[in-house]
Amino acid sequence: MLLDGKKLLITGVLTDDSIAFAVAKVAQEAGAEILLTNVGKGVRLTEKVARKLPTTPDVLQMDVNNPDDVAAVAADVTRRWGRLDGALHSIGFMPQDALGGNFLSAPWESVAFGFQTSAFSLKALAVGLLEPMKAAGGASIVTLTFDGRYAWPIYDWMGVAKAGLEATTRYLARDLGEHNIRVNSVSAGPIRTMAGKSIPGFDAIAGSWAPRAPLAWSLSDATPVGQMCAFLLSDWASMTTGEMIHVDGGYHALGADFRR
Ligand code: NAD
Repeated sequence: MLLDGKKLLITGVLTDDSIAFAVAKVAQEAGAEILLTNVGKGVRLTEKVARKLPTTPDVLQMDVNNPDDVAAVAADVTRRWGRLDGALHSIGFMPQDALGGNFLSAPWESVAFGFQTSAFSLKALAVGLLEPMKAAGGASIVTLTFDGRYAWPIYDWMGVAKAGLEATTRYLARDLGEHNIRVNSVSAGPIRTMAGKSIPGFDAIAGSWAPRAPLAWSLSDATPVGQMCAFLLSDWASMTTGEMIHVDGGYHALGADFRR
């Protein structure tokens, strides 16, 4: 199977709608052994939803903004497996006053915290997990973005953070390639998750998918995103790094709506 024997760390499973849940499920079905992480009170929810996976994985607490938490997870991974073959970064947060039409008024403190959590955190995770990934002789890191090349309605500073996240994948690809560590992003179309729904006016973006995307996009099925992440985590993507792959029903390829 695609991920036979792979040891993977998967962040960001909060509910069974989470994109990371779809990745975790596909990864287990493809033969991977996984470990989940989430932050603070989220851990309880993660433990609950983990029971819905084919095999119930362990869940660790990790605030990606806390270097001690990341170091503790790296140490746990090393004790447990002696190596790490890949990690999914499925983490995003932007305070409400930096979203939903507040682009011009958002305070720097909100933007800074959102940027740290949504973009800088990829670097924090990659460097924090470096030793177990080096022990594996190479690894794959995958993150989730929402095409940061464009200005979207209401996405505001999260859009800027996503552009930063995408740039971070390229710089990490540059600096970690010597360890055979690949770093890529998947640009997903809109999915009704906790993070998605917390964006005021999510429907303004989601509603534009049906008139434009060539393929029938489902707002409630992250499985195709999970499958692409699994591919990037696998050896089949061994020479792909610094890349952004769209799993958006083809929306990005069109310049205007073609359906009513
Ligand atoms: P989600 O709410 O299920 O997942 C977001 C996760 O981030 C949660 O598990 C949350 O606990 C975690 N998180 C927040 N702050 C954290 C911190 N400090 N440390 C560790 N974890 C933290 O929503 P989702 O939509 O599955 O989001 C996952 C990723 O996918 C995000 O980066 C999001 O921007 C991205 N994405 C989502 C969509 C969409 O439409 N839902 C589209 C494209 C990309």
